[in-house]
Amino acid sequence: MKIPFMSDMTSPEPKKKQENGAASLRSRLQANAPRFGVESCPHCQGLGLLFDPQAGKTGAYELCHCNRDRCRCGGEPPYMYFEESQNAMVPCPAREAYIALERIVRLNRKSGVPARFQNRFLDTLDTKDPGISLLIAMDHAVEIIYQYGKRKDPDAPDIQGLYLYGSTGTGKTHIACTIVNELIRLYQVEAHYAKISRDILNKIRESFNTSSDSYGMGGRIEKELASYEALVIDDFGVHRESPWVNSTLYDLIDSRYEKNLLTILTSNEPMDSWKELFGGRVYSRLKQVCIEIHLDGEDYRLRESRSIS
Ligand SMILES: [Zn+2]
Repeated sequence: MKIPFMSDMTSPEPKKKQENGAASLRSRLQANAPRFGVESCPHCQGLGLLFDPQAGKTGAYELCHCNRDRCRCGGEPPYMYFEESQNAMVPCPAREAYIALERIVRLNRKSGVPARFQNRFLDTLDTKDPGISLLIAMDHAVEIIYQYGKRKDPDAPDIQGLYLYGSTGTGKTHIACTIVNELIRLYQVEAHYAKISRDILNKIRESFNTSSDSYGMGGRIEKELASYEALVIDDFGVHRESPWVNSTLYDLIDSRYEKNLLTILTSNEPMDSWKELFGGRVYSRLKQVCIEIHLDGEDYRLRESRSIS
């Protein structure tokens, strides 16, 4: 599904139009997210939480004004207060928001997203003249976030992941990380980023080493990767020489497919590169799980002036 406001963002029109574009993008993104605030609130549109990019060094999540105004517990866990009319301790009206906030902070800390891509979101993706391929990838990313909120509807279609490929510096890791960040911010789910060599293959290999702390933990590592609600696998390279790698990756993709879990892959090579490997099994699973998008990178320039790391 194409989202018209994306083209607004590339137009040379003044700031006003861009702001409208960002606002409608934000409302599309959070359309199906759980609400912890006051529905009519102009600041959060009912979400109850905000991300303040100015807070601290890297920005921070906080309760929206609508919740701060109605808070009765002073922000102290377990977020209860004494209600005189009932002569009892009752939940603070902002309790759900406080709990969601704690969960977001915890999930972000464990997400594995590299520092430079933390706290980056789809509506603030700051690129200079994004090219067509980047806009297409962003449209798909927005659609994934939107559909994710409907995943428990019995009639909801399966959510397809993405296979983003292109050379270094085309924005594929950036887009993939914003998907992790948005899923945590809006749905508070366990979304995770892993770099294939460092976080997956080396860790599993290490588990075969009898002198390693992680000896014998390979099964646990694989199980964890197979059960994150959303997983980004960065640098999904083709290993022509290693049947072990191909079979490990096949098992991972396959078990995530069986559980209907969202998987986003980035690669320097097109999906076709997998065709001849491992009897074409990895390839056929990838086809079922992901939509392939080629990022040509011509117009992608991440504005480092806003870089956090
Ligand atoms: Zn609010």
